[in-house]
Amino acid sequence: MQRNIRYTIIIPVYNEEAVLHETYHRLTRVMKSLGEPYELLFVNDGSLDQTAKIIEGFSELDQCVQMLDFSRNFGHQIAITAGLDHARGDAIVIIDADLQDPPEVIPQMVEKWKEGYEVVFAKRSKRKGESLFKKWTAAIFYRTLRILSDVNIPIDTGDFRLIDRKVCNAMRSIRERNRFVRGLVSWVGFRQTAIEYVRDERFAGETKYPLKKMLRFSLDGITSFSYKPLKLASYLGLAVSLGSFIYLVISLGQKLFTNSTVAGWTSLIACSLLLNGVILILLGVLGEYVGRIYEETKNRPLYILRSKQHKVKHLRADEEKWYVQR
Ligand code: UDP
Ligand code: MG
Repeated sequence: MQRNIRYTIIIPVYNEEAVLHETYHRLTRVMKSLGEPYELLFVNDGSLDQTAKIIEGFSELDQCVQMLDFSRNFGHQIAITAGLDHARGDAIVIIDADLQDPPEVIPQMVEKWKEGYEVVFAKRSKRKGESLFKKWTAAIFYRTLRILSDVNIPIDTGDFRLIDRKVCNAMRSIRERNRFVRGLVSWVGFRQTAIEYVRDERFAGETKYPLKKMLRFSLDGITSFSYKPLKLASYLGLAVSLGSFIYLVISLGQKLFTNSTVAGWTSLIACSLLLNGVILILLGVLGEYVGRIYEETKNRPLYILRSKQHKVKHLRADEEKWYVQR
């Protein structure tokens, strides 16, 4: 059995040819300084540029480099999941490829891990070079999620964290589809601690999280950790019914005992538009959950690898089964 790798660094990459060389060199420098065996596990999330070629180039020269090659773009969170499925280290670090998460923080995480913490997450004390829009929406999102969810998901932390092998094994047993990895790490528990760091600017290239992906990501976060939005319908329904009943009594009173009934059209159209809007929004909320149930029932694999190429020479028999993941 081959279990001599101490650290696995999981790096999800999607069209990152502009940053890969720098990422590789900085990570290698930091990991070498720790003086223990490690692997850099790149997960190529269906990149359309030279990303896969560049990583293959690294792996020819450097035994520590591994690559999982997706058959198409499955998304950042799924890429991390694949990394966790294949990681062989005793401690596993998840890091972005664009150097916004500085690799130089890893030794600090390792120190905490050696003190006995099983999850060391990195909290952003500052975010450099990101738009006000991104900072604000992120701030609102994390705080809303905190209110809605029963799981204690730390505010202002990304996926940059170190987890122990035990935590990784626990994560492997979770096979839900629309994944919100940072929430799941909180959900599995264990001894957790935080260190603070300054989030740098992206080293080169553009963000791979356009607004649409960000929106989907935050909806995944909320729907997988809270069903409170569903209860909204009951509360609103109750409030509207109560209000309507009171108004009905008043209107009837006016009709029966006075001559001052209001002429209809404006009030009717206002009521009807407003209520229809509310109903459609609530249907949308319901749809978000139903859609996710539908995805779940199809039970497709979470991702498909183009080949086992780099893994095959290292796979243990019991790891073989993770090749295509349920
Ligand atoms: N990423 C990925 N698949 C995707 C989108 C992003 O693997 O579909 C990777 C990307 O290569 C990077 C990390 O996820 O390593 C974070 O993406 P990015 O830096 O673009 O997001 P941002 O920091 O702008 O939120
Ligand atoms: Mg980034």
